[in-house]
Formats: sequence, C-alpha cells, structure tokens
Amino acid sequence: MAIWNREYETIDRDELEQLQLERLQQTLSRVYRRVSYYKNLFDKIGFDPFDVSSLEDLKKIPYTTKETLRLAYPYDMFAVPLREVVRMQSTSGTTGQPIIVGYTKNDIEHWTELTARVLSAAGVTEDDIIMISFPYGLFTGGLGFHYGAERIGASVIPSSSADIEDQLTIMKDYRVTVCICAPTFMAQLSEIMDIKGISPAELSLKTALLGAEPWSESFRREIEDKFSIKLFDNYGLTEIIGPGVAFECEERNGLHIAEDHFIPEVIDPDTGEILDFGKKGELVITTISKEAYPLIRYRTGDLTVLYPDGCGCGRTLVKMGRVSERVDDMIIINGKNIFPSQFEKIIEDVVGKSVNFQLVLDKKDNIDNLEIQIEISQDIFSDEMKRLTEIEKNISREIEERLDIIPDIKLVEPRTIKRSMKRRRVIDRRNKN
Ligand SMILES: [Zn+2]
Repeated sequence: MAIWNREYETIDRDELEQLQLERLQQTLSRVYRRVSYYKNLFDKIGFDPFDVSSLEDLKKIPYTTKETLRLAYPYDMFAVPLREVVRMQSTSGTTGQPIIVGYTKNDIEHWTELTARVLSAAGVTEDDIIMISFPYGLFTGGLGFHYGAERIGASVIPSSSADIEDQLTIMKDYRVTVCICAPTFMAQLSEIMDIKGISPAELSLKTALLGAEPWSESFRREIEDKFSIKLFDNYGLTEIIGPGVAFECEERNGLHIAEDHFIPEVIDPDTGEILDFGKKGELVITTISKEAYPLIRYRTGDLTVLYPDGCGCGRTLVKMGRVSERVDDMIIINGKNIFPSQFEKIIEDVVGKSVNFQLVLDKKDNIDNLEIQIEISQDIFSDEMKRLTEIEKNISREIEERLDIIPDIKLVEPRTIKRSMKRRRVIDRRNKN
C-alpha cells in the first residue's frame, strides 16, 4: 500500500533523531518564552531550554499531567496569541473540567498531513468514497479526518452523528467504500442490518478505520468475516492533536507513531520510571511541531508498549501496541486492581465471540458487589434455560479462577444495555449509598 509521505515515514533513524532534536529545541524555547507554566517549571528545576544538546535532556523535565491542563482553563497553556489561533477543539469534560486546545494555520496543515498518512496506510486513495461517522463538533475525530481525506482526494461524506439508519442508507446508496467511525457504531450498524435483513453483500464497503475507544481482536475477526472488509486501528487524543498520532499499516501488528511530530516514551504509571521497549506502561508524548498548544512529556493515561523493530511495510517509525486500557479505567473491587478489559477477555473466551457487556458495582453489607450484565445473541437467548445457566456458570467460574472475584452474572437480551456514542463499561454505584 502507498506510503503518503515516504521522506518522513521511511526516514533514516539517525536523521530522524537529528530532526527531533532540532524540533525539540525550538519547542522548548517556545514554551519557555510563551507559557508561564513551563517558564516557572523550568526555572524551579534549573532547566535551561537554550542549552539542550541531546534528546536525553528531555528526561530532566517533569511530566505534564491532565490536571495541569485543566487548571490552565481556558487559555493558559496556549503558546501563541489568540489572533494566531484559527481553530479550537475541546475534550468532552465528562470526567472533569474540559480542556480547550488551539491550532495555528501550520498546526492544521500538519494535522491534515498526519490524518492523510493514517488513511493512506489503510489503502485509501482518491478513488474512495469515505463516510465519516464521527461527530463534527468539539470532538477532534470528525474534522481531523475530514481534512486528511480531502487532502488525499477521496470523496468525503460528513455523515457525522446522523441517525444510524440514515447512515446505513447513505452507506448503501452512495456506495461508500471506507467508513471512519467508533467500534460501537460498527457494532450497532451490524445489529441494524441483521434486524432489517440487509446483507453486507449489498454494501460496497471494503475498509473501516476504527478509533475513539478500545476494540478487541475478536471484534476485528467477527466484523471482517461478516462484512468481508479490513479494519484498521488508529490512535490520537485531543490534548496532543486529535487523530493522526499513530496508525496501523497493512501489517496490522502495532501502530506507527509519527515520530517526526511526537516523541513517545513509556513509563511506569506508579513510579514514573522510564520503561524499556516491550514493557507495558503509560504512554507519554512530547509534541515537537505544535505551535499553539505544545506539550512536554504529557501523560496520556493510555497503557501500551513500544516496539523498536522495523516493519514489513518499510516505515522506520516505531510502533506502539494497541491501546486496550487506560490508567484511570482501573477499578478496585474489594481491594483488587482490575481493568474492564480483563473481564472482556474472559467473557469472549467463554462465549466464543465479542459481546456487549457492562459492569455494575454496588455495595452489599459493606462489601463490593459486582454484577456483570452480558448481552447474548437472540439465538442463544431463546435457547433452553439449561444452556443459559451453563453459560452463566462457566463465565462465573472462569472469572473466579482467573481474577479471584465472584460476580453475579446476568445474561440479557440483545440491545438491552443502553447505547451511546461512547461505550460505558462500568456503572459504579458504590459511593451513592
Ligand atoms: Zn508498518
């Protein structure tokens, strides 16, 4: 498949490091002069941003956290005057104060280039008809991909957050070949097609790029088999730029990070210690080309690993593992630290396919009680009672054996769990009593 920007995506590693150093020097001098948070921080630790001679020097700077960005609301982390800002986007703020990010003209140009790389790596060309089913609002997914898709020259349909049945009609009638959406959207689309009796063969779809929330390999296999399409993962976050930070190539075993714009590190989320390649930890990113909203060593909260090895696609940019969990997804049940993805894995192993489920936490006599609601397909649900009890027992036993937790399992009919743009895996009622 095509490589959008061969010069940078297959750059010699020594040359890349030199480029990173130059861009890092510019970025550090920029934030020192223009962002009071960084000026105070550098002065406090005695760090001279004009005396940086190696990429190693970056390690002397403390991490920037989401809390710092929240406290800077609305504009204190901006490194340019507002008259140079041509766009603003924002985080949703569902878990606290939203974070506003700004883009200069150059930032938008870079962002466009980066999402064009993501699309090109998934085989998208000017011959494609692309439907973007991400909201076109403050969320970066819609507009971020829109510009990149236009840059490639594809025909772009900004279907955004239109009703899902209307989107299905668009997909079918406009002969859409590529869909950019959240995995939840793809799952809902699949359900609606089953209900309406529309066969995937009636669609022209060949590729889907999924982002904005984690999705499993078994979900990939299921959707790919059902639709005869290929699914590609990509990664990005609003604070850093939006989509375009990292993406899967045709090899689909890890996501290449655009290291000419971002310097990645992986750290132990508890101690802050930098981890070696191949060790799982929290992803930390330093932006080295951003003008309006540069961030130094930003803790993303996403857990991943970095792989140094070359790739069959010819790109020299390092790869990161697919992100399936975030540091703050961790839940504590009766003193045990667990990620929702661990339950997902077990349920999928028992049921044999990806399922929609929800964890409901409550307190019973001061002890944490976990109920797992699992949607199972209509054919299993209408099966005899004995079979349902058996599935419940198997899931319960596996969870007890692997996670040392005894849950209440509740199998529910398809489409019982409330749907939204973003999946909500955990409902925690423990502090509400
Ligand atoms: Zn590759």
